[in-house]
Amino acid sequence: MLTNPENIGHSEPVISIRNLKMWYGSKQALRGINIDIHKGQIVGYIGPNGAGKSTTLKIVIGLLSDFEGDVQVLGFDVKKEPLEVKKRIGYVPENASLYEQLTPMEYLTFVGRLYKMEDDVVSKAATELLALFDLTDSKDKRMHTFSKGMRQKVLLISGLIHNPDIIVLDEPLSGLDANAVILVKEILSKLKGYGKTIFYSSHLMDVVEKISDRIVVLNNGEIVADGTFEELNQEAEASDSLEGIFNHLTGNIEQTVSKADDFIKAIGV
Ligand code: ATP
Repeated sequence: MLTNPENIGHSEPVISIRNLKMWYGSKQALRGINIDIHKGQIVGYIGPNGAGKSTTLKIVIGLLSDFEGDVQVLGFDVKKEPLEVKKRIGYVPENASLYEQLTPMEYLTFVGRLYKMEDDVVSKAATELLALFDLTDSKDKRMHTFSKGMRQKVLLISGLIHNPDIIVLDEPLSGLDANAVILVKEILSKLKGYGKTIFYSSHLMDVVEKISDRIVVLNNGEIVADGTFEELNQEAEASDSLEGIFNHLTGNIEQTVSKADDFIKAIGV
């Protein structure tokens, strides 16, 4: 059931991340991060490639348990009660391998069953949702022939079809065409309006700037900024786009320009 947007409160965090550290072998991916996310917030998680965004999101949804620190979702400890967490979260992974021999309808029926939804309810919702993403003609075709964007649309539907209260999305706009990006932006904004909590990563700075009411910037496993776009803008001084703020916090425009020159030279131009 959707909550009336007027009844959204901002008291207890629904996602609480405390001193989170994670290693892959000797490589430390997360260096003690703290994030509290409240009901109804839409939080954009940004950072350079390899910063640790996907690792954080996988921990939050209970996919990785080999971490240090305390992570709770709706009061459930993700390490001790990952199933309780998974039941309550919608997750759209980055580059999931879909069951490619299945059709979207078969795949969504499978996902619906995992969430204990009735087949006829899933079938009705899936038919409608696939149509909204212009996939009606492909709904009974095997997914191995699908483009990246078509797969992404099926993944998005599979993460949302059970009407979760908490939605975690890893690069949800990856591969989508401009119309689909507009549609997904609109869907996320509306879901927030209904009290859904959304934690997502993206490299599309203009989208993050527009739809997030809070932006967390991760660099090399550490949070380097956390606030509204306006707060980040003030902190970065003189940048008035999220791209500029991102570069200020995690890079260096002169270095980037000089790297481009080096690249051009290295390929022998
Ligand atoms: P991107 O923007 O490129 O998706 P990211 O911010 O999501 O990057 P992560 O995928 O979380 O970054 O990776 C963080 C670090 O952990 C990187 O250095 C990456 O190489 C490393 N890493 C991630 N997964 C593994 C793994 N399964 N085994 C070893 N190292 C890993």
